[in-house]
Amino acid sequence: MSEDASPRKELAAVKGTRDILPGEVEKWQALERLARETFESYGYRELRAPIFEVTELFEKGTGSTSDIVTKEMYTFTDKGGRSLTLRPEYTPSVVRAIVEHRLDLQPEPMRYYYMGPMFRYDKPQKGRYRQFHQVDIEVFGEKDAALDAEIIEMADALLRKLGVNGTETLVNSVGCRACRPAYSAALREAAGKRRSELCPDCQRKAETNPLRIFDCKVEACRAVAAAFPLIQDFLCAECKDHFAKLLGLLALYRLPYHVDPRLVRGLDYYTKTTFEIVSSHLGAQNAILGGGRYDDMMKDFGGPDICGIGFAMGIERALAAAEIALPARRALYLAALGEEAGKAGLELARFFRASGVECLVEFKDRGMKAHFGRANKLKAAWVLIVGEDELKKGRFGLKDMATGGQVDGTREELLEFLRKN
Ligand SMILES: [Zn+2]
Ligand SMILES: [Zn+2]
Repeated sequence: MSEDASPRKELAAVKGTRDILPGEVEKWQALERLARETFESYGYRELRAPIFEVTELFEKGTGSTSDIVTKEMYTFTDKGGRSLTLRPEYTPSVVRAIVEHRLDLQPEPMRYYYMGPMFRYDKPQKGRYRQFHQVDIEVFGEKDAALDAEIIEMADALLRKLGVNGTETLVNSVGCRACRPAYSAALREAAGKRRSELCPDCQRKAETNPLRIFDCKVEACRAVAAAFPLIQDFLCAECKDHFAKLLGLLALYRLPYHVDPRLVRGLDYYTKTTFEIVSSHLGAQNAILGGGRYDDMMKDFGGPDICGIGFAMGIERALAAAEIALPARRALYLAALGEEAGKAGLELARFFRASGVECLVEFKDRGMKAHFGRANKLKAAWVLIVGEDELKKGRFGLKDMATGGQVDGTREELLEFLRKN
């Protein structure tokens, strides 16, 4: 590297991406661990799908009229001339994997979770990235609204573990294929009457998919959308019952919720339940997680007629609202004095590491004072002193850096002592 240690500008991380460095990454690891533990306790298993898929998967799955597909996908042609896309969301990949491997024929319940990066060519803004990260869960083959309630309850349980407080749960029903066409027609009519007040984008949506007008962030469009008819007045009996059961169970779980009739979410595939959990700590872009039911997606993929439901949680946003207590690191610094002790130290480090003790070994020859200075800088909890005398006796000194206290013992005795402390 040159004198100027910063990389050339064109070699810096790409706009909308960033590094997650030690010091911050521990929170990510803690979140991932808590998410894994939570989901597994509800019978979920991890399903890892590739980061890129054929573009058609998302056009079909995410929906060709959604903002994601029309504006935000990272699509490229590979050397074989295929159109591929970095996944903008996870659900279509899971659906594809189930159909491809016929997981629906297995006896295990189809409850899956996943954590990883997603990619959207979005306008970068504070806390929003083009490579962003999600925790995602999907369940298939269960129609009962009890599952919708359980998923919301599980999301709430995870947020509690993450120390996310001040949340509000928004729920809605967006109807099904039986009842939504009438609603769409009513929206089209309402939007048509006030077409001139809408942004060009929404004028187009008024024709193609008027439900999407609810996603628009333009103030004038929001005002128009506020006067639109409400979906609740159009739900069929089945959708109405499903929604009523969901609300009843949320009450049973004593989970406060708020019915938001404009919560349609930015995706085409939702049916019946949609929900979001928002945080008062996050400002305008305040949804930490959101999801819903998609009972027709699998069938639309040419797979079996199996219903699905899921949610995605933005990891960056969850961490912005989370208060995660991290356990302190308790590392052992190995202070070897002289060449022989240096070699013996390697074997000692191996012994302690094999039992799960974090052991810091540096290969530079140092005196005792320099070792302690270094151990201090590295914030080691303990220093193990290995000199010629100690080697002869097979007994070593272990110094507690916080209290200055010291104990002596064989390596086995010291390991025992570390375990207790
Ligand atoms: Zn319906
Ligand atoms: Zn608009």
